[in-house]
Amino acid sequence: MRLSQILFSQGFGSRRLCAGLIYNGEVSVNGDVIDDPDAEFDTSGFSFEVSGKTWPFYDKALILLNKPSGYECSQKPKHHPSVMNLLPAPLRERNVQPVGRLDEDTTGLLLLTDDGTLIHKLTSPKHHVPKVYEARCKHPVTAEMVKALTDGVELHEPELRRPDPSGKPRPPRPPELARAEAAEAFDSHGLRLTLTEGKYHQVKRMVAAAGNRVEALHRPQFGALRLPQDLAPGQWIWVASPDLIAKL
Ligand code: URA
Repeated sequence: MRLSQILFSQGFGSRRLCAGLIYNGEVSVNGDVIDDPDAEFDTSGFSFEVSGKTWPFYDKALILLNKPSGYECSQKPKHHPSVMNLLPAPLRERNVQPVGRLDEDTTGLLLLTDDGTLIHKLTSPKHHVPKVYEARCKHPVTAEMVKALTDGVELHEPELRRPDPSGKPRPPRPPELARAEAAEAFDSHGLRLTLTEGKYHQVKRMVAAAGNRVEALHRPQFGALRLPQDLAPGQWIWVASPDLIAKL
């Protein structure tokens, strides 16, 4: 593939901007400045440097972010900055999107990708991708709560329904049920849950339905991927291994 085309595909701006970066000597391959936008490279296992920073070439981007509290997953956030602000411009330009959502105050593993098929696979309830959450609860976690969560609970209705434009009260919805694949107390107020669905505020609503309250929520695992211990909040890494992606 031509170098200018490579830069364009990796989110470095318009074709003209990419050619400009190359003409200006800002792009190198294996340490050698390449100033010809038409120079051809084999993209498999390829990486290049722009202004001294190395970029691996990926046909589709898949990244793992340690989401800090205080960021919304929406592209059009209402009250807090978007997680997209934590990513460098080329990834934003590639239009990577969060795989599912974490609440503004939830921390931990968030995947982002520009691969629509992968987003569908990872978020569709049919695929049962397990997600592990650790909740710090207001009250002690009892054996009854743990059992209720794995048996299944009736979720409280979320408070996001818009009022009927005619002013009439909306009829109540049929009860929404949810159950955890696994649940355990990991200390007196710590609850670890494995879910394979992604209903709105699911952990908080399940815990409320079981008679407790989530005070802090963290996701250490998504499918086969675990949050690396040395990845600080706000930092991200590429998920590069095809084996890991296949296991997701
Ligand atoms: N469940 C919640 O309640 N919040 C999250 O952010 C994720 C799962």
